[in-house]
Amino acid sequence: MDFLTKQNFKFLKVIFTKPEEKKLLTEVLASKPKILITTHANPDGDAIGSMLGLYLSLKKEGYTVSAISPNEYPDFLSWMPGNEEVKDFTKNRSHARMLIREADVIFHLDYNEIKRSGEMAESLAASTAFKVMIDHHPNPQLETNLSISKTESSSTAELIFEFLSELFPQPFNKDICECIYTGIMTDTGCFSYSSSRPRLFEIVSKLLAFGIAKDEIYRNVFDNYSESRMRLLGYCLNDKMQVLPQYNTAFMSLSLEEQQRFNFTTGDSEGFVNYPLSIKGVRFTALFIERKDRVKISFRSRGSFPANAFSKEHFGGGGHLNAAGGESSLSLDETIQKFLALLPNYSEMLNS
Ligand code: 5GP
Ligand code: MN
Repeated sequence: MDFLTKQNFKFLKVIFTKPEEKKLLTEVLASKPKILITTHANPDGDAIGSMLGLYLSLKKEGYTVSAISPNEYPDFLSWMPGNEEVKDFTKNRSHARMLIREADVIFHLDYNEIKRSGEMAESLAASTAFKVMIDHHPNPQLETNLSISKTESSSTAELIFEFLSELFPQPFNKDICECIYTGIMTDTGCFSYSSSRPRLFEIVSKLLAFGIAKDEIYRNVFDNYSESRMRLLGYCLNDKMQVLPQYNTAFMSLSLEEQQRFNFTTGDSEGFVNYPLSIKGVRFTALFIERKDRVKISFRSRGSFPANAFSKEHFGGGGHLNAAGGESSLSLDETIQKFLALLPNYSEMLNS
C-alpha cells in the first residue's frame, strides 16, 4: 500500500516523456512565437478550463497568445477569468482562420483527433505551426510535434497544471488556478470518478492555497441553469427515460420539437445522460439529441463496459471508457432502433 501510494505520488510529475522534449519546447518558446490555443467542439468544463488556464499563464509569462473555441458554449462555462478573450470560430471565421494561419505554435487541448475540432479542422490541418497536444483520451490520432497524452489523468486541466509547473518557476495566480480547478471538478463529476490518485488531491491542495473560490465555482457551474432546463430534465426523467432491465441499460431522447417546447439552448442537456446511472443495476446509458442534420449521442457506463468502443464501432465516435459520444446521420427513431438492435450482442457484457 505504501509502495502504491508512493508510485501514485510520482505519477504524472514527469510530464515530458524524454528530456529532449522539454528542451525542444523551451527552445520554441524562447523564439517569442505567436501562440494559439484550441480545444474540441461543443467544449465542456475541462476544455474551457484548460484553455483559459494555459492562456492566462502564457499571457502572464509575456507571450502573444490567442484562444479559439470551435463553437459557442453555455453560460455555465462563460464566467471563467479571461472568458471574454476567447474567440468563437463560428462568429468570425475569417479572423479565426487568420489567427490559425499566423500561429507559430498551436496547442490542441482535450482532444486527440482533428475532426473533434469541428469546423476548424481544415485550417488546423493545413497549418505548419509547431503543434502540441495535451490530452487524456485514449488512442491519439493527431500528428503533432509534441504529444502529452496521459489517459491516467483525471482531466486535461490536471495535465495543464503539471505542464505549467514544469515549464515556469511561478506559472500560477488565483485566476489561473480557478480555471484549472473548474476543468478538474467537471471532468471528475465533482471528484466522484477518475479521481482516485493521491497526486490529484495534492494538486487541488495547491490550487486551494491560491485562494480559489471553490464553492462559488461549483455554484457557477451547477447552480446556473434556467427554469426551462430544469423542467426539461423533469420531462426527460418522467416521460422519456426508458429502462431495459434485461440489458442493465437506460436511455432518453429529445427531438427538435421537444427542444423547442422547452426553449432549449446550448448546454441544456449537459449531465442528463448521467441520471439513469443512479438507478440500481443500470450500467449503460445513452442520450440521443436530434440536431438539424444528425443525431448527437452521449454514452455513459459503469465498470468495465466500454462506452468508447461501443460508440466508435457503431456511431463513429469515441471518448473515455465510461464517458463517450458519437453521432448518427439516421433519423432520431432509426438511430434509437439501431441502438436497441445492438444491445442483444452486448447482453453478456452488460450482465456480467
Ligand atoms: P459528451 O457525452 O459529454 O458529449 O462526451 C463525453 C466524452 O466523449 C468526452 O470525453 C468527449 O470528448 C467524447 N466525445 C463526445 N462526442 C464525441 C465524438 O463525436 N467523437 C469522439 N471521438 N469523442 C467524443
Ligand atoms: Mn477532458
